[in-house]
Amino acid sequence: MVYTTPADNFVAMPGTLYIVSTPIGNLTDITLRAIETLKGAVDLIACEDTRHTKILLDRYGIKTPTTSFFEHNKIQKAGYLLNKLKEGKSIALVSDAGTPGISDPGYNMIKLAIDHNIPLVAIPGPSAVITALVVSGKPTHKFAFEGFLSNKSAARKKRLRILKEEGRTVVLYESPHRIIKLLEDILEVYGDVEIALARELTKKFEDVRRGKASALLGHFKITRPRGEFIAVI
Ligand code: SAM
Repeated sequence: MVYTTPADNFVAMPGTLYIVSTPIGNLTDITLRAIETLKGAVDLIACEDTRHTKILLDRYGIKTPTTSFFEHNKIQKAGYLLNKLKEGKSIALVSDAGTPGISDPGYNMIKLAIDHNIPLVAIPGPSAVITALVVSGKPTHKFAFEGFLSNKSAARKKRLRILKEEGRTVVLYESPHRIIKLLEDILEVYGDVEIALARELTKKFEDVRRGKASALLGHFKITRPRGEFIAVI
């Protein structure tokens, strides 16, 4: 392999936090730079779920030590990782899917590192938001990414009303057990507008449906929603 730019030099800088994007489903959606960084450049990989990330690491023969960093240990674990960085260790931060920091606990680690003047390097790659947006057919020149809306219907509808006023394309993450409630709220706030629902992107059962909110709601009332969802309004 020939690497031609300084950014392709896969010797990790000591005491640096690498924010490494990983696939959102299809394990071949990973950059060469991400593989090389995870493979040997860094001392440690901080993963949301070490068992989940192991599938990816095994696929590419990566044997770098891992440690967990997830929603319920993020406060104390961020302190531990910060100390490692201050000792001069280089750490890769990965999430279960896509780009760390986008609707996952990665943000807390990134913010802490910045607050302590730890150098950061982002290794870009997939993120579900962009993948869903481009396949939705909705205008892409400006959009609002809202991640997960509140799990309370009143708060969700309040937010949707604000987003509707704005007029931008809106991208929302949602879990399979709340997608019907989200569709009902979209229907109530926006009316029967054309939306797109992207499910299981890049995976075996990838499914992108475009149509009226009422039609998609009807479909998922008959067909049990499974997998990971993104709604684009
Ligand atoms: N950090 C990730 C990213 O860069 O997209 C997002 C993590 S967030 C905890 C997980 C949510 O992202 C899922 O509930 C779903 O809404 C969306 N998502 C992730 N992978 C997806 C996929 N393959 N297909 C559809 N949605 C996906």
